[in-house]
Amino acid sequence: MAEKTLFQKIMDGELDGDIVYEDEQCVVLRDINPQAPTHVLVVPRKPIPSLNDLTEEDEALVGHLFVVAKKIAAAEGLDGGYRTVFNCGPDANQTVPHIHLHVLGGRRMGWPPG
Ligand code: 5GP
Repeated sequence: MAEKTLFQKIMDGELDGDIVYEDEQCVVLRDINPQAPTHVLVVPRKPIPSLNDLTEEDEALVGHLFVVAKKIAAAEGLDGGYRTVFNCGPDANQTVPHIHLHVLGGRRMGWPPG
């Protein structure tokens, strides 16, 4: 069996995580190294390693992650807007091989990202 990812261990209660929301399809936790006043990660329970591993059967799940992101942004009071990011692969600095949607807000952000 493949080794559990960091996020899988948090979801399984083997590691601590600041979980702000969960449902049957995903968990939302605060990033341990926040890059904005609000920085949470929307993580599907299904351990998909990267966006390149998505299949058609994951379409509804990915849509669900964005709907949850919107609800969390509202709950966090991100009225001025927010950014959502999926990093994919080494050039994008993906460090955890379990897809996760970053939601960042609470400050003005630049574009393009570095
Ligand atoms: P990636 O670079 O793969 O897109 O994002 C991984 C994210 O996980 C990073 O923003 C990093 O700060 C966060 N992270 C790394 N280790 C931990 C941890 O132990 N707990 C939490 N909550 N986040 C972590």
